[in-house]
Parts: sequence; C-alpha cells; structure tokens
Amino acid sequence: MLVTGVKQRDAWLSKTLPPVELVRPGLWSVPVPIPDSPLRYTLCYFFADDAGVVVVDPGWDTDAGRDALSAGLAAAGARLGDVTGVVVTHIHPDHHGLSGWLRDTSDAWIAMHPAERDTLPGRIWNTTATAPSDRDWLRTQGVPDDETTAMIISPDQIGPLLAMAEPDRLLHDGDRLPIPGRDVLAVWTPGHTPGHLCLHDADAGVLLTGDHLLPRISPNIGVHHGQDNEPLADYLQSLERVTAYADSEALPAHEYRFRHLDARARSLVDHHRQRCEEIIKTLERLGEATAWQVAAELTWSRGWTALPGMMRRMALAETIAHLQHLLAGGDLAHDGGRPELWRHPRAD
Ligand SMILES: [Zn+2]
Repeated sequence: MLVTGVKQRDAWLSKTLPPVELVRPGLWSVPVPIPDSPLRYTLCYFFADDAGVVVVDPGWDTDAGRDALSAGLAAAGARLGDVTGVVVTHIHPDHHGLSGWLRDTSDAWIAMHPAERDTLPGRIWNTTATAPSDRDWLRTQGVPDDETTAMIISPDQIGPLLAMAEPDRLLHDGDRLPIPGRDVLAVWTPGHTPGHLCLHDADAGVLLTGDHLLPRISPNIGVHHGQDNEPLADYLQSLERVTAYADSEALPAHEYRFRHLDARARSLVDHHRQRCEEIIKTLERLGEATAWQVAAELTWSRGWTALPGMMRRMALAETIAHLQHLLAGGDLAHDGGRPELWRHPRAD
C-alpha cells in the first residue's frame, strides 16, 4: 500500500483536520468533522463542473459539518445552491447525515443503493424499536442482564436517525451516476452495510471506496438485531471484487488516500481469515460457548475489558458475523437455543 494523501496522513497523525484538496480536475476532497469520534472526520467528495456539484457522503449533521461543507464548496468556486445531487456510499450518519439538509437547501436529489434504503432506521425501527425485543436478542447472544443496559439500543438514542432522508433515486450495481460529462460507475460492495457502494471514475483513475476499504482500520462487519444475512461472506466477496480496480487510486471516506488497493483488500481478507481461526481455537478450548463468551476471549485492539458498552456491542456483532460465516461453511455448529450455544463440530 502506498499513501498518496500525504497531507491527509500528516493531519491524521497530528490529530488535525486535513485540507480541502483538488484531487483531479473537477474532483474535490473535503473533510467534514465527526463529533466525539476517534475517526475525527469524513472525507466527502465533490464532482464539480459548470453544471453543478454532486456531493458524495456529505458527512455528519452538525453546525461544524455544515460550515465545513459550505467552505469546501467555496473552495471549489460553488455555493450551496449549486449542489444538484447527493450520493451516499451507505447510510451511516457520518456519511448520510447531511444529505437531508443539502436537499432542503439546494433542491438536490439523493441517491443510494436499494438495499441501503431498506436499512434506513425510519424503515427498520419504527415498528421494531422496542427495548424488550432488543434485550431479548442480546440475551440470546449470551449477554448477562447487568451488561445489557449499557448496550441496548433505545428509541431515544435512535430518535434523530429516524428522520434520515429517503432517497429520490436508486443506484443499482453497474449504474452510471447522473453527472453530465463524467462517467462514474456504481460498484455494489455489500459487507460493512447491505447496500454499500464504491464509485469508479475510470477517466480520473480513482475508486471512491466509502468505508469498504480504508488504509488503516478494518470496517465493522457485524450481524445486528433483526438481520439474518451473512455480511462476512458478502464482505469477503466485495473485497475480491474491488481488486479489479487495482490500478485506481483509492479515495476512502476516512483517514487518507492510497494506492495498491488490491494489497489492502488482501490484507483485510487475511485479517478475517485469522479471526475465524482464532474463533475456532477458542471454541475448541471452551467446548460450548455463547457469542458473548467467545467475544470476551478474542483479541481486541483496546482489550475487551476496556471496551465501553456500545463498542462491546459492535465487537459482539462482529463476532456473530464470524460465527455465522463459520457455521455456513460447516466449520461450527450451534444449538438454536436461548442463549444460543456454539461449538466445534468435532465436539459432537
Ligand atoms: Zn464511516
């Protein structure tokens, strides 16, 4: 991997905000701050020309975020009213948060993959956001009752997210972005989220990778309450898929730009393979265990005991994704009970 966003990496190391940069003619990189997050900023991108500006991943909705976007537009010689469209790689609030505000202020359209639209909190949680059922799900995963309170997702926490914007346009795999004079391809890369998109601009030689490929951190791949998909299998396939764009510079949504994205994709595949091996060894040792007990035994960069409640939930979701993947491959078995117990098939 070769870091090309040198100023961005310097800013990352010195814990400051990187500069607005013109990455290619008509393609801008604009950092938008994320409040109280170790990620610190989202790298939003503008496709800008005389006909207007299409904004990719406008970032978290705060006053500072709105100011950063407006300043980025000014640097690109544009104003809020010039924004014609918004594309989100996925709907997490550090990407999709400001989409609704942009649509309201500039009458822009919003586009995303249909599988991503289907996960909008307003669609999923309006009917199922009851604390008892979330608590039940956590119990099934083996979370002790005294731990669930710090991990539960309550309606007031997700309240603001329920209002996140619905799309006006859908982008399927292989669709071209509606940007006159530019040929930008939507590449469906499910895994981090079900409808995650990367965007390929062949003429510019860039792949906007969203959170699918980041230079330093491994995006969370998790199974969540109410989902029965197999995100890790999807993610591994999506990693394989983007190696076809190995010649492109990777323009990620966090951290900094880089080249040799195929090497980065392969190291992420290795990371997950090692994780699977670690889980199998853990279950060989424990015999039978809940997802929670397995998660507590795994290595986490901050250490399991130091993880606060919601980060433990992410770690648990990530562990379940690996367990499901191993189950699908016949490498593990489970009993379907409550709490659910996992075991190595050789223990039968
Ligand atoms: Zn993100």
